[in-house]
Amino acid sequence: MDAPRDRSAFERAQALFRQRTGPLTDDLARVPGGFGLGQVPTRLAPDATTSMICGFCSTGCSLDIHLRRGEAINVSPSVDYPVNVGTACPKGWEALTPLRSPDRATSPMLRGKNGKLSPVEWPTAIDTFVTRFKAIQARYGDESVAFLGTGQMPSEELALLGALGKFGMGLLHGDGNTRQCMATAVVAYKESFGFDAPPYTYRDFEESDVLVFVGANPCIAHPIMWGRVCKNPHRPAILVVDPRRTETAMAATDHYPALPKSDLALLYGVARVLIERGWIDRPFIDAHTTGFDEFAARVADFPLDRVAAATGLERGAIERFAEHIHRGKRVSFWWTMGVNQSHEGVNVAQAIIALALMTGNIGRPGTGANSITGQCNAMGSRLFSNTTNLLGGHDFTREDHRRKVAGALDIDPERIPSRGSLAYDQIIEAILKGKIRGLWVVATNSAHSWINQADLHDILGRLDFLVVQDMYTTTETAQRAHLVLPAAGWGEKDGTFINSERRIGLVKKVARAPGQALADFYIFKLIAEAWGCGDMLRRWSSPEAVFRLLTEVTRGQPCDITGITGYDMIEKMRGVQWPLPEGTPVEAASERRLFEDGRFFHADGKARFCHADPERLPEATSADYPFTLLTGRASSSQWHTLTRTGKSSLLRKLGASDPYVELNPVDAAALGIAPNTHVVVQSRRGQMAARAFITRTVQPGQVFVPMHFARTNQLTFAAFDRRSRQPAYKACAVRVKPLPDGKRSGEV
Ligand code: SF4
Repeated sequence: MDAPRDRSAFERAQALFRQRTGPLTDDLARVPGGFGLGQVPTRLAPDATTSMICGFCSTGCSLDIHLRRGEAINVSPSVDYPVNVGTACPKGWEALTPLRSPDRATSPMLRGKNGKLSPVEWPTAIDTFVTRFKAIQARYGDESVAFLGTGQMPSEELALLGALGKFGMGLLHGDGNTRQCMATAVVAYKESFGFDAPPYTYRDFEESDVLVFVGANPCIAHPIMWGRVCKNPHRPAILVVDPRRTETAMAATDHYPALPKSDLALLYGVARVLIERGWIDRPFIDAHTTGFDEFAARVADFPLDRVAAATGLERGAIERFAEHIHRGKRVSFWWTMGVNQSHEGVNVAQAIIALALMTGNIGRPGTGANSITGQCNAMGSRLFSNTTNLLGGHDFTREDHRRKVAGALDIDPERIPSRGSLAYDQIIEAILKGKIRGLWVVATNSAHSWINQADLHDILGRLDFLVVQDMYTTTETAQRAHLVLPAAGWGEKDGTFINSERRIGLVKKVARAPGQALADFYIFKLIAEAWGCGDMLRRWSSPEAVFRLLTEVTRGQPCDITGITGYDMIEKMRGVQWPLPEGTPVEAASERRLFEDGRFFHADGKARFCHADPERLPEATSADYPFTLLTGRASSSQWHTLTRTGKSSLLRKLGASDPYVELNPVDAAALGIAPNTHVVVQSRRGQMAARAFITRTVQPGQVFVPMHFARTNQLTFAAFDRRSRQPAYKACAVRVKPLPDGKRSGEV
C-alpha cells in the first residue's frame, strides 16, 4: 500500500488543533513536522513521589511512583489507599517494566507493497487512516467500518474514542474487550437491579460471616481482594463452587466441585432447599422484589436427586451449602469469569443474585451479589465507552436519553445513533460476511485473546484495512495490521479508572512515551481534526476537561458523579466511589455500598428475580474428545495475553514459561502419560503441545490449561451467552495424547 501524497487533512488538523488547545502537551510537541514547540515538563515536581492506580486488574490498587528528574524510576504500594493499604501483587511491583521494552512501537508503521510494515511519519499515518476508512465508507456505507476498544484505557480516552467513532466518524459498530470478561454481569445486573450496578464495597470482604465464591479464584486472580478476606476477623465460612480445586478452593471451608457448567442447577437446588425449609427473608422479598413466586416455581423442579445427578455432588453437600447460607448473618456472594464466560452466564449470575435477594443479603455490611470485574477500567468501559450503552449508562434507543447526552456535550442530537452496536462476535461475523471491511483495534490483542483463534486469524485477513493502535508492534494483532499507530501506555498519560467497587481513581503521566508514540487521547484528537469532526469535539480538550463532561452526562443517573469537582478531589479523597451526586457531603463519600435503603433502580424501586432453565453444554464430550477443557488464570504474576507482563523477566520467572496441562492421575495412568512429559491437547479446531502436570486439582475427565498461552484459544469453542454475547471460554471437548519422544511444546 502506498502512502497517500495529500497531507492537507493533517495540516488542517494541526492548524485547528493548535488554535484550540492553547498550550500543547509534550506529547504533541514531539510529532515530527507537527507542532514543534519542544518538550514541556510533566506537571509533577522532578523528584516527587506521586500515587496512581495500577494498570492491570480491576482491584484498583494505588501505587506510589517515585520520580527522579521527572521520570518514574520505581514503584511501591501506597500505604494510605483504602483498597490495598500498602500491598500489591507481583504485577503491580513490576508495573514500569513493560514501558521500557525494546519492542515498543515508536513510530507509525504502514504496510507497503512488499507486504512489510515500515515506519512512516504521523502526517502520513493520519492521512492514510482517514483516506482509507472514508473510502471504505463511501463504497460500502458508514456501517462498514467498526472499532474495538479496551478496558485498559482511562475512561476519558474510552469516551473520546466512542464519541469520535459514533458521533464523529458515523460508525455504528464498536465494542471492546470487556465483552470477553464483563458483559454477562452487565446484563444480569441491568435486568435484576435496573442498572449495571455492582453493589459492594471491599470492606464487605472483611465483614461477612459467610463468603460464597462461584467461578472465582481470587487467591490468584485478585490477590489483594483475597488479602482482604484473610483479614476478616469473623472466622467466616468460605464456600467455593468450582470444578477445579483452585488455590481458593484449597483454602475454603467447603469446596463444591460441581461438574463444568452445572452451576445453574446447583444454585437452583440450593434455592429450593432454602425455600422448602423456610430459610428465606419473606419481609425483604415482599417489600423490595418482584417475581419471587415464579422463581420459586422454577426451582421447585430442582429436587436434590436431580441436582446431585447434574452436578456430581452428594445430596448432603447441596443441603450443607444451603445450611451455611441460612446460618450466616452477613452472607456475600462473589463471582467472576467462571460464571461470566459461559453459554448461560447471565442465568447463573441471576441465580446468584436471587440467592442474595431471597435471603435478604444485600444492602447491608458483609452482604451482596457481587461481580468482581476483570480489567483495570472495565467498570469505566461499562459506563463510558459509548459502545453498547450510550455514555453514562444511557440507552441509544431512547430519544430522551439521546437529547440529554447531546445537551450535556453540546452536540447535535442527530449525531447520536438510535441503535446499539453489534457485539464483538457479531462484528467478527460481519467481517466474515463482507459487511464490515475496515476495523480499528485499540489496545487489545484480539488475534491472541479471541475465542477459536484460528478462525479469527482467517477473518482478520479478509479486512480491506486493519488499523491497530497499541504500545507494541509485536502483538499478534499488530502483526496483521495494515497500519500501526504507536500509543503511550499506562504511566505515560493522564485519566481515571473505575475499579470493581465503583471507586474512581487517577492515573498519571509519570514517564515519557518512547519515540513518536502518543497518548491515545491525542491520537483520537488528531484523527478527529483530520476527519473533519474536530469542531464537534472542541470541548474535549484534555483528559480532565473530558472528565468534567462525563460527570455532567451522569446527572440524574444511578451513577451520578456530579459531586466530583475534578481530579484534585479524587486525589484528596483517595478515590471516590460512584454515585456521588452534587451536594453529597464529602464525609459521606468515603466507602459506600448500594441499596442500603432497599430501593433498586427499576421504576418501581424493586429488584427482579430472573431465571431460566439450564441449557446443554454447547460442545459436549464424546468418544473422540472425552475431556472437558477448563481454562483460566494460572498465576498472579501474569496478565491475560502476556503482552505487557511477558516483558518482565521477573514476572516470567514467577509463572510457567511453557504451556502445561493439568491432568488427573487416573486419566494420566489410563493414557500412559508420566509427569512432566509432553502431550498434545487437541480439539476439533486446533491443538497445542503442553507439559503434563499430573494433579488432583482437576477431576477425572477434565483438564485445565492456562489462558495466557497463545495456543490456548486454538482449542476453545466459539459459543456465546445469547443475551450478553460473552464468549464461553471455560468448557469445550478435547482429547489428550502423549507426544512422541523428543517432541516438545510448540512442535505439533
Ligand atoms: Fe493490585 Fe491488580 Fe495491580 Fe495486582 S494487578 S497490584 S492486584 S491492581
